[in-house]
Amino acid sequence: MTLNVALVVAATEAEGPGRRYAVWVQGCPMRCPGCCNPEMLADVPAEARTPESLIQEAKAAGVEGISLLGGEPFAQAAGLALVAEGVRRAGLSVMVFSGYTLAELRARPEPEVARLLAATDLLVDGRFEASQRSARRRFIGSENQGLHFLSDRYRADDPRLHGPQHLELRLRGGELTINGWPVLGARTRIGRG
Ligand code: SF4
Repeated sequence: MTLNVALVVAATEAEGPGRRYAVWVQGCPMRCPGCCNPEMLADVPAEARTPESLIQEAKAAGVEGISLLGGEPFAQAAGLALVAEGVRRAGLSVMVFSGYTLAELRARPEPEVARLLAATDLLVDGRFEASQRSARRRFIGSENQGLHFLSDRYRADDPRLHGPQHLELRLRGGELTINGWPVLGARTRIGRG
């Protein structure tokens, strides 16, 4: 099994609590106006990665956990469930950003959706609604979206889950990318040398 992966950032502090290994998957069936990652919506081949390779990289990254973003993680639930289960066995936490609401996901019949949910500690859910755009809550782009604690790994009073949005700038090989600021883009490529 392979996953269709748009981007991996081995260590970020802008996509969840603590330092995290972040994976953006390619492809999303939704088309939210104002989506911050429009280049990740098309169901086209990007980078093929095995779940095991992502697990090994995450374990080697010295991070607190992984964050799964996109694109739509639950569109590749089977492979990402393997990743989430694998890193959890190594003691890492799992945060998922989905355009589906938690109620929608719990109503889905596919066992892989339930497996990925069961291996998720923190879930940010719901479509991005441009009319409800907000930078008020860290990691959350619009007011309709919610943060759900699906395990007891994190607490709602964790100060790292509060405060305004942060952004991270990364310059690598002549390409400047921004991530961690949903109002601008979870990952926005500014230029390429
Ligand atoms: S905001 Fe999220 S759910 Fe909406 S189109 Fe973009 S990636 Fe898909």
